[in-house]
Amino acid sequence: MPCVDAQAGNRWNIGSIGIARIEERQAPSAFAPETFMTGFDMKVFTAHLHLMPGFYSPEQHRLVSSMHSWLIRANGKRILVDTCCGNHKERPWMPGFHQLNTRYLENLRAQGVEPEDIDVVLCTHLHLDHIGWNTRLENGRWVPTFPNARYLFSEREDARWNPRRNPATDPNRAMSYDDSVLPVVQAGQAQLLSDGDQPLGSGFRIEPSPGHTPGHILVKLEDEGEKAVFSGDILHHPIQVYQPDWNSFACEAPEVARRTRREVLAYCADEKALLFPAHFAAPHVAAIERTAEGFGVRYVPGAAA
Ligand SMILES: [Zn+2]
Repeated sequence: MPCVDAQAGNRWNIGSIGIARIEERQAPSAFAPETFMTGFDMKVFTAHLHLMPGFYSPEQHRLVSSMHSWLIRANGKRILVDTCCGNHKERPWMPGFHQLNTRYLENLRAQGVEPEDIDVVLCTHLHLDHIGWNTRLENGRWVPTFPNARYLFSEREDARWNPRRNPATDPNRAMSYDDSVLPVVQAGQAQLLSDGDQPLGSGFRIEPSPGHTPGHILVKLEDEGEKAVFSGDILHHPIQVYQPDWNSFACEAPEVARRTRREVLAYCADEKALLFPAHFAAPHVAAIERTAEGFGVRYVPGAAA
């Protein structure tokens, strides 16, 4: 599996702010589209296929998706948004994420950044594919991968997934919390955000964006009149721009997820904000436009590293 995307670059700019994509992997999904998305309709999907080159593997009948972090260099800081699945994590219930050994850290270094250089890590939510590289295995113990970083998590999200705060947490979710979030909390590096907290400084806005999970947060960025939204799992695939009512199987509150998705698409279209989702395959970044039917996509390839 290629560790660096050969088809498209991994660097973008919003005003003077540099953004790089740090790839963990890009591959067809483990699930059939009908399983992955509620409401999936192959006829509707096929009608949009020519608008989504590279986002579907017809041989395997799978949506193609990417796992990556966004590295933002702003206000003299290096900020990482979402941290993928991580290496060596026990995920026996999800074979595609089990005991991975990817070149994620090499891809970070290829952007000229060492783990020690990361100042802030922000997880849009605490699902296992957004928290994995929070920690790495050292002498049999999970330790923070980014020793000098402050890790930002939503307070509401922590209340949902921390098994000590919510004993009803699914045991698999509890396991990923305990190996990828708890060690960060125990190291004193976690900061739980309440609504309205804005620790990222000027140009950034963190906002609640519930639906996929109760405490999901997004990050808006603005510099020199240009705008971006780091949208986590509000959308998983470009078909959801055309069909905003299609949720992923993991969206916990379906109606809320649909409303949040429409709000983000409207914001991107009306404010000309580029969309930086967590799982879009190459070219990864999209401009959203209003159309007679709703919304459309114009892809925005990055520059080569
Ligand atoms: Zn995800």
